[in-house]
Amino acid sequence: MTKFRLVLATIFLSLSASAQQVPIEIHDQLVPQSTETRKLALTLDACSGKYDDDLIEFLIRNRIPATIFATKKWIDHNTFGVSIIKAHLDLFDVEDHGENHIPAVIGMGRKVYGIPGEPDLIHLRREVLEGARAITETFGIAPHWYRGATVEYDIQAIEEIEKMGYKIAGFSVNADAGATLSRLSIEKRLAHLKDGDVIIAHMNKPASDSAEGLSASLIHLLQRGFTFTRLDQVNLQETMETQQKERKELDAVR
Ligand SMILES: [Zn+2]
Repeated sequence: MTKFRLVLATIFLSLSASAQQVPIEIHDQLVPQSTETRKLALTLDACSGKYDDDLIEFLIRNRIPATIFATKKWIDHNTFGVSIIKAHLDLFDVEDHGENHIPAVIGMGRKVYGIPGEPDLIHLRREVLEGARAITETFGIAPHWYRGATVEYDIQAIEEIEKMGYKIAGFSVNADAGATLSRLSIEKRLAHLKDGDVIIAHMNKPASDSAEGLSASLIHLLQRGFTFTRLDQVNLQETMETQQKERKELDAVR
């Protein structure tokens, strides 16, 4: 746990017991590297739903590496998509997005964007472990990164996931807002990327504009000299945006 998250955990504990805990959204960027090239990481969530063939085929055609966060649920329902990814593990890293896409917030009745969280830490551990097991059994990869559904976490969930040996993958640029944005909006969001940015997008909604918006933007980024890396080859560090969001929310809690 980073230093300021520890401080925040202490603040949380000092709040009155009746105060509702507010989940944290972790913002990360790549740990700076000494190379001349400008690096980005593209992360794609496969939550539930389908396989976005257009997006993955585009990445394969253009040799753009990506990190795929897959749930067991998605793996079980997308045999074809799994076979394509499996045939291109030189390009794609696959990491843990849980068993059933349950947000890492703890307590009966807790929800994020309307999706119920976990009743307790035992259920959270199962979500993380069964997600990891599905990836290892399907792709032969032991995941080291975890990204919870909705990318929101309670402090105690963060502690538990890290205790289990997983690093939590945040992001710095939300490209498609859960595959709900138009092509133009996606292009706008990706027009001002900087070295070290971590992009989050979705590969589970083929009817969305995500493939179109990302394709146009990524080509442009390649032309501007950016290169792409995968999370199994780099490390991430939290940005001040995590802290600011938490502070703001803590103020709201008070
Ligand atoms: Zn998801």
